[in-house]
Amino acid sequence: MDLKRLGWSPLFSEEFEARYADRGYIAGRVALEHKNSFVIHTEQGEIRAEIAGRLRHHAAARADLPAVGDWVAIELRDGHAIIQGVLRRTGWFSRKAPGDAATEQIVAANIDTVFIVVGLDGNFNLRRIERTLILAWESGARPVIVLNKADLCDDIGQRIAEVEEVAIGVPVIPISAAEGKGSEELGTYLPAGTTAVLLGSSGVGKSTITNLLAGEERQRISAVSGSVGKGRHTTTHRELILLPSGGVIIDTPGMRELGLWGEEDSLRETFEDIEALGERCRFSDCGHGSEPGCMIRRALDDGTLDAGRYRNYQKLQRELGYLERRDDVQAALQTKQEWKRRTKAYRAMNKR
Ligand code: GDP
Ligand code: ZN
Repeated sequence: MDLKRLGWSPLFSEEFEARYADRGYIAGRVALEHKNSFVIHTEQGEIRAEIAGRLRHHAAARADLPAVGDWVAIELRDGHAIIQGVLRRTGWFSRKAPGDAATEQIVAANIDTVFIVVGLDGNFNLRRIERTLILAWESGARPVIVLNKADLCDDIGQRIAEVEEVAIGVPVIPISAAEGKGSEELGTYLPAGTTAVLLGSSGVGKSTITNLLAGEERQRISAVSGSVGKGRHTTTHRELILLPSGGVIIDTPGMRELGLWGEEDSLRETFEDIEALGERCRFSDCGHGSEPGCMIRRALDDGTLDAGRYRNYQKLQRELGYLERRDDVQAALQTKQEWKRRTKAYRAMNKR
């Protein structure tokens, strides 16, 4: 694999030459992070490598350790591949580490282009686009706004004008990934050797777009299926995807979660009526179940509040709550204990 195809540039090679080349190390780009090892694209193909103890030990922060998209210097010794250094990043996306709000975790490194994906359906929200733009600028990459699901919209011109007003100087591209339209336009922002990520709420079409660009159906890592203790179902999924056109797309679970950040405000806006009802319940901590004086129950009963809409609101609220919990150390520990307890109970049950 030609490193240039993976995004290798003079900036990286200069640093690599200066610091590592005379030691006989080779360069590679991190494609996937496992618990204790990394899958890395190199000139010699894909290899699995571990972090040198020295590097792990001297890392001042978790963010100093390799992440998907990083360029690393690898020592090949006795059939082992050991990561000896991480090259300086041109930019990155990060989040708070799950269960440890004080730790920054890199979710994707060295990105040139951020496709901010918005749905031209119910998902369209200018405030959210503004917030996502800030996230994109902070990553050091160039944002491109992708208005997907153009097939569902009658006034595309109007939408483009609205977006251009809040995103001055940023390209705005309407596409329809489901109809296979727009990959050429996106390709202009993804020439050979550039790296892109897709940022956007769940359901806007990020997977569909990635598949369209990759020109094939890629298998996603499916979460644990079946019962506790069966172990993880693993696939050969790579989070750094090489496109036939020569560009690279990074798609990590962490990147996907970034799409949900800051959606709390839009939840409030979108469901203003439900929030207002809830504030008028008799008890301030009303769970909207069978409590007396619950205004939401009443509205559901007399039909002024649509049950489907309320379910949507609850679903989004749960998703946001889930993200918050992940940032909360205490809750993470509790979840772990609860998980242990359940595993034990499950084992005991099976013994009988
Ligand atoms: P993701 O959560 O952002 O990865 O979104 P997906 O790629 O999974 O798409 C969510 C849903 O939107 C799927 O049912 C897609 O088929 C649909 N979808 C994606 N792109 C388009 C499009 O251009 N037009 C329409 N009508 N639906 C689309
Ligand atoms: Zn209530």
